[in-house]
Amino acid sequence: MNTDYIKRANQVIASTYKRFPVVFERGRGCTLWDTEGGEYTDFVAGIAVCNLGHASPEIVRALSRQADTLFHVSNLFYSIPQIELAEKLIEKSFADKVFFCNSGAEANEAAIKLARKNFFDRGEYDRWRIVAMDQSFHGRTFATLSATGQKKVREGFEPILEGFDFVPFNDIEKLEAAVTDKTCAVIVEPVQGEGGVRCGDANFLKQVRKLCTEKGVMLIFDEIQTGIGRTGKLFAYEHFGVEPDIMTLAKALGNGLPIGAMLAKDEAALAFTPGTHASTFGGTPVITAAALEVLKLIEGENILEYCNRTGRYFKDRLLELKEKHPVIEEVRGIGLMLGMKLSKNGAPVVDACMERGFLINCTQENVLRFVPPLVISAEEIDNLIQCLDTVLPMLEKEGYC
Ligand SMILES: *Cc1c(COP(=O)(O)O)cnc(C)c1O
Repeated sequence: MNTDYIKRANQVIASTYKRFPVVFERGRGCTLWDTEGGEYTDFVAGIAVCNLGHASPEIVRALSRQADTLFHVSNLFYSIPQIELAEKLIEKSFADKVFFCNSGAEANEAAIKLARKNFFDRGEYDRWRIVAMDQSFHGRTFATLSATGQKKVREGFEPILEGFDFVPFNDIEKLEAAVTDKTCAVIVEPVQGEGGVRCGDANFLKQVRKLCTEKGVMLIFDEIQTGIGRTGKLFAYEHFGVEPDIMTLAKALGNGLPIGAMLAKDEAALAFTPGTHASTFGGTPVITAAALEVLKLIEGENILEYCNRTGRYFKDRLLELKEKHPVIEEVRGIGLMLGMKLSKNGAPVVDACMERGFLINCTQENVLRFVPPLVISAEEIDNLIQCLDTVLPMLEKEGYC
């Protein structure tokens, strides 16, 4: 029974999450089942993690094969899946070198350390500040929460790490003013995820690139949520015709297995010399074998084209809803990273969808976020749209929230 598990969980698991009262037991493709046989279509996908759906047989096979061959060796030695995954990431991106770790926050930690170390190595000892965006999200470790432009993430943990300055997203003039001779890097999510599915303007991102080049500042793209096909390109920066110096990945790279990666151009990456940074589990054979399979599947099965097409269809259907429901203020996003901003708190909509067998997410209190597996079908989208059409009117009722 769900309730027994929930009671046990609440006794022993730190309550850092406000969890929904459901215990998931099994998943396949875009469907999840709970311990009571309840069935759900998953528009959360582990928050943009399971891009190829749950229990993908190819990934299970790649993982099992590697687990049966070599599970783990220290990074004091080489291992084949790590090399192959790095080669694939380099082949598919702007980068020349990869550092592997276990999560998004760690990938951003690596990026922040690398940016600072570059200027230290050049003798520019005062140049360690980083400019980040308001409403950004970069993680929960000390450096990454310090880089996060949301008060609620930092509150209670001060003093935070020194050296982060914040400017409004998509405001090039404020950014120009904030980048000084003490700035080593600018960090941007091409599309803010936790910040409410807010897209970077193509023009803004182009100008950020130009500014960073002119000022000799490193440009870090946090593609932890946008990467690995989520926006319809393998990496979101490909939409905008600009390349960063450093990029971070995690979430969908392992389709649910813990892996993070920091990618960089050689000029930047050279500052990481033996002994300067490390991770025990980073790039371990089992996980990198699975991640390599993820990239091969995305490359081989027209997933990106499908994601573009399905994303456009989904967005159009959400826009149709907007015509009918005044509580919807805006529909935004790209590929299968879509958001619907409401004029009211979205939590009751999330609950009502869940009761009807659809998992969706709400961020920033009033932005419904849709990040399903990239293999979601038009029919599954239609079913969710019908559900939203039914439940949204309850928000219109006076006095609700
Ligand atoms: C999720 C996320 C992170 C943090 O990743 P963790 O694996 O939870 O540490 C960082 N940046 C962005 C943009 C994210 O979406």
